[in-house]
Amino acid sequence: MIPDYRQTDKPATAPVKFLADGMLGRLAKWLRILGFDTAYHPALDDYALLRLARAEGRVLLTCDRELAHRPGAQSLLIESTELEAQLRQVIVALHLRPDAAFSRCPVCNTPLETLEREAVRDRVPAHVLKTYIEFRHCPHCDRVYWPGTHRARMLEMIARLTGQ
Ligand SMILES: [Zn+2]
Repeated sequence: MIPDYRQTDKPATAPVKFLADGMLGRLAKWLRILGFDTAYHPALDDYALLRLARAEGRVLLTCDRELAHRPGAQSLLIESTELEAQLRQVIVALHLRPDAAFSRCPVCNTPLETLEREAVRDRVPAHVLKTYIEFRHCPHCDRVYWPGTHRARMLEMIARLTGQ
């Protein structure tokens, strides 16, 4: 039997990008933690959101039923008010694989760069410097990140979301 490659040999597509509406700030932050390019501009009105989503090829995430059904951009109506259910809905709906977690700044969405311990000597508390070898830095907002105690909780949540 000749194997059918049509279902698995999908052409390489650009990674999915998101734009979260003003009500979905926590969801935006978490999509960034999972590594997904997620814009969030709470001051934009509906018209500007649709225009930006279309211009940048972003999926508009909204909990506004009316906005979700307006033509002009690809939208996903977020059904739950609970963060984990929201994340699960986005992951399932768009077949996402969160395999680049912690690679993006949760505050400003910029890809993070890796820094060695020496480079952050004056920027992190002494006990943190002693504990960790590698740090991440946001070249846009200049924040420094390290694994920390919240990372285990985040990994647990990611495992729950992806069923691993
Ligand atoms: Zn940043």
